[in-house]
Amino acid sequence: MDLGIRGRRAIVCAASKGLGRGCAEALAAEGVELVLNARGAEALEATAEAIRSTHGVEVTAVAGDVTTEEVRGALLAACPAPDILVTNAGGPPPGIWSDWDRADFIRAIDANMLTPIALMQAVLPGMIDRGWGRVVNITSAAVKAPVPRLGLSNTARSGLTGFVAGTSRQVAAHGVTINNLLPGIHATDRADALDRAEMAARGIGLEEARTQRYATIPAGRYGTPAEFGAACAFLCSVHAGFVVGQNWVLDGGAFNGTL
Ligand code: NAP
Repeated sequence: MDLGIRGRRAIVCAASKGLGRGCAEALAAEGVELVLNARGAEALEATAEAIRSTHGVEVTAVAGDVTTEEVRGALLAACPAPDILVTNAGGPPPGIWSDWDRADFIRAIDANMLTPIALMQAVLPGMIDRGWGRVVNITSAAVKAPVPRLGLSNTARSGLTGFVAGTSRQVAAHGVTINNLLPGIHATDRADALDRAEMAARGIGLEEARTQRYATIPAGRYGTPAEFGAACAFLCSVHAGFVVGQNWVLDGGAFNGTL
């Protein structure tokens, strides 16, 4: 299926690895020109070069922490009129409810709620003026079903979800859609770090930690960044213009619910 977005321009945040990279690759495969971001310049440039050579699209790398105003400004300077915005940043650390103080909550809310909101506020006016736009926020399945040890994530991402629920309905009439993708466990560095945290917390081996986590997923495996990216590209496509304010859970069936 031709997604109808060849030649569109996208900002994809936190995209040198993992799910952000999966989204960038899938958009590039559709002929979208990219501005990519991550903190580590070396890995980011390597990803940018791999995507350029595989897909033949223009890729600009903007290295830096997307939770800072300076880096968000640099992203917008590199791509002043994006058609597509994919927001993403690293997830907060695991722990339990009594571990976190105000500063921990502020950091998590800043990264996983206020940063995507600031980016949306910056790009939505232009998208509305041009009559077309797509925003996809990478959030977490923890919004749908809390992961107890990821309380900071549960908290911050729920706030973002509330903002998107209202805002998406305010901009939809202008041809602009905003939706969230909610990853369950995907095979990325983040999943590996959480496997290792589980291993340490429960005194079990890495393979055992993984096997036990696979068993919680009806698909019997972790998702892949490519599968995740394909869903993102579809939401960014011309075919998804009637998908507004949705929260798509990509979790191999792990959320056990009828709706
Ligand atoms: P990942 O494999 O660790 O990749 C994270 C990417 O984001 C890297 O490119 C990293 O590069 C970049 N990054 C992290 N913090 C950044 C920042 N402040 N500014 C700019 N770039 C930043 O993680 P992932 O698995 O793709 O996860 C992506 C998001 O989905 C996270 O918020 C995670 O919590 C959430 N999530 C993941 C899963 C899963 O199973 N994978 C499940 C639920 C939710 P640098 O380190 O060089 O900056």
